[in-house]
Amino acid sequence: MRRKVTAAVLLLLLLVCLSACGDKEDEDDIHNYNKTGEYESNINDAIPTATEDDLITKPPVNGTATPTPTPKPAKQYIVVLDPGHGGNDPGASYDGRKESYLNLQLANLVKEYLTSNYSNVTVILTREDENTKPSLSERVDVGLDNKADIVVSLHLDATESHKSHGASVLISKQPNITEQSKKLANCILKNLESLGIKNNGTVKKDSKDTFDENGVPVDYYGICRYGAANNIIALIVESCYIDSDIDADYLKSDMLPKMAEAEAKGIMEFLTKHYNNGAEG
Ligand SMILES: [Zn+2]
Repeated sequence: MRRKVTAAVLLLLLLVCLSACGDKEDEDDIHNYNKTGEYESNINDAIPTATEDDLITKPPVNGTATPTPTPKPAKQYIVVLDPGHGGNDPGASYDGRKESYLNLQLANLVKEYLTSNYSNVTVILTREDENTKPSLSERVDVGLDNKADIVVSLHLDATESHKSHGASVLISKQPNITEQSKKLANCILKNLESLGIKNNGTVKKDSKDTFDENGVPVDYYGICRYGAANNIIALIVESCYIDSDIDADYLKSDMLPKMAEAEAKGIMEFLTKHYNNGAEG
């Protein structure tokens, strides 16, 4: 009988020991077991650990700086500048001033300002010298070939009476391009106006002899017409009048860079604030 009791006690002790060892194994499993998400989340609830974010955003010792997000790279823009006329076509002339030459000077200055002050813009000219005269479609093609965001053709205005002054921008009337063209035009005009140049607004002009398949006249100005046909913003900036005594000062060598700066700022203002990555549909 005593032996039986001893055996029973030993068995009981063995069972208690096995049970305790089992609990121990389960306890270890809490730290090691991660086969199910549910279980793992319990582990996390029980034992908070630093996440990667915690480590990154941990405040510095002085506690004043806040974490700053990594800046996204700025969008890159491609701008085509088209100095109007060239080759055997000087454009308007007045009092020793020649439009094709001034257009080229101005385009180079706009390019210089853009590339010196903005790292996210590439500028391409449709002509680099006075000897070449690309056709109007070739000038727009420079924009298309380079996947440009905009084509800005630079000109100077003139009238028979030599009595007008100020800046205007000729834009397409086609619905796929006109609203964005107008926004770009107004950005440029507003900046020219801040220099003191009169703002004559935007101009749309119908062709007298060319019509689309519905009988509606297309744009008169080739740059605007080819641009609209190819869904690229292409407009003509008449920066001021070459034959105006009031505007003449802006075409002198000390003021031409100021006019270029105003146009460059207008271009970037449009691209960074109003541009919707191409023509609207
Ligand atoms: Zn012109």
